[in-house]
Amino acid sequence: MIDLEIKQKIDCTGCYACFNICPKNCIEMENDYEGFWYPKVDSNECIKCEQCIRVCPILNKTIVENEPMAYACYNKDENIRINSSSGGIFTLVAEEIINRGGVVFGVGFDEDFNVAHSYVESYGELDRFRGSKYVQSKIGDTFKQAKDFLDQGREVLFTGTPCQIAGLKSYIGKDYNNLFCMDNICHGVPSPKVWRKYVDFRERKSGSKVQRISFRLKDEGWKRYSVSFLFENNTEYRDNLRNDFYMRAFLKDVCLRPSCYACEFKTLNRESDITMADFWGIQRILPEMDDDKGTSLIFVNSPKGQAMIEKVKDKMIYKLVDIHQAVSFNSAAIKSVKLNPNRENFFEELDELDFDKLVKKYCADKLSIRVKRKIITIGIFILKKTGTLNLVKSILRKN
Ligand SMILES: Cc1cc2nc3c(=O)[nH]c(=O)nc-3n(C[C@H](O)[C@H](O)[C@H](O)COP(=O)(O)OP(=O)(O)OC[C@H]3O[C@@H](n4cnc5c(N)ncnc54)[C@H](O)[C@@H]3O)c2cc1C
Repeated sequence: MIDLEIKQKIDCTGCYACFNICPKNCIEMENDYEGFWYPKVDSNECIKCEQCIRVCPILNKTIVENEPMAYACYNKDENIRINSSSGGIFTLVAEEIINRGGVVFGVGFDEDFNVAHSYVESYGELDRFRGSKYVQSKIGDTFKQAKDFLDQGREVLFTGTPCQIAGLKSYIGKDYNNLFCMDNICHGVPSPKVWRKYVDFRERKSGSKVQRISFRLKDEGWKRYSVSFLFENNTEYRDNLRNDFYMRAFLKDVCLRPSCYACEFKTLNRESDITMADFWGIQRILPEMDDDKGTSLIFVNSPKGQAMIEKVKDKMIYKLVDIHQAVSFNSAAIKSVKLNPNRENFFEELDELDFDKLVKKYCADKLSIRVKRKIITIGIFILKKTGTLNLVKSILRKN
């Protein structure tokens, strides 16, 4: 008797490996009421081959033993860097793969601004994948597509969250020299349904369909990035990560997938060849590499990853760093976030309340944090007015 029944939701990351491997195509990925995908086996069609159980990266954990190296780095191409979430390292690697005739799998928006994996084969199309989309991406049948390209001898770059890379590797099942994987340090993935509600909310407010979304505009700087929606009526909504209702819900950990609160892939020993992240804390560790335009932290996890860096290093500014010091500013690399006690209520009222009311009700900062933030804002305002902001910044850096 095969049993792919998900007994506890924290045990399924929604990676789609089982969906992709089923020889009878009798596994559907169904949304639960929170909007996350889980497998459902059609028992009338199932031939009980158990491939779905053997492919599950949670039921069959891979132990990785390696010695990753960490770098602070950014792309020398200013334009790419500004249009990327951190230092634009994804694009450097993707361009190299395309140069060699390869295929790049990544995460973009579909025509309705849902978030999904797909592939591109040219430089011009890479724009679709640039920039983080803070939503769980739908893998669909991209694992099958990637394997087809690998079997044809094409090079494949596959990018995704660590659980998606684990799912892909488990599905592929053997070492392909022509497969290159990049994962990210992942805070956790919010529900696609919550994202849908937010897009609908913004469209209702503007009275127009959305035509472009960016999660990370750097106009106010990389550290204080903004979310932007451009609408067909040429109006724009824009606000920074602290005020934007969706980013508040994301960063308050109120709408992440259940498995993200007990993530099995938080480790320095990763299955990908390169891990990409923001280099939070760069102003403290290497201030000379911080111009607030975005600096990446990368882990180079394998000889393939090292060979790639050798290939692209002339196109980037980089410096070797101590991995433990770097991670001390980016705990998402190794630690899951805590479950927000409001999470259940948030999802219960998701269909009832307007998005702004929902977030105000369940994602408010504590009074002490609000007071602290107000004091900092007033302090910065005074320093700006008296022309002493840069002086204070340089004193703080030296300390
Ligand atoms: C859900 C999520 C959570 C993250 N959490 C953290 C964190 O806590 N700390 C941290 O330092 N960095 C985090 N990152 C990584 C960070 O946002 C940047 O992706 C990373 O710094 C790479 O930036 P870049 O400038 O090199 O590339 P960019 O041009 O920004 O490239 C984006 C890359 O991310 C991939 N991508 C985009 N959206 C998704 C998605 N929804 N799921 C999977 N892959 C996606 C694209 O395919 C592409 O490969 C997170 C990313 C995501 C998607």
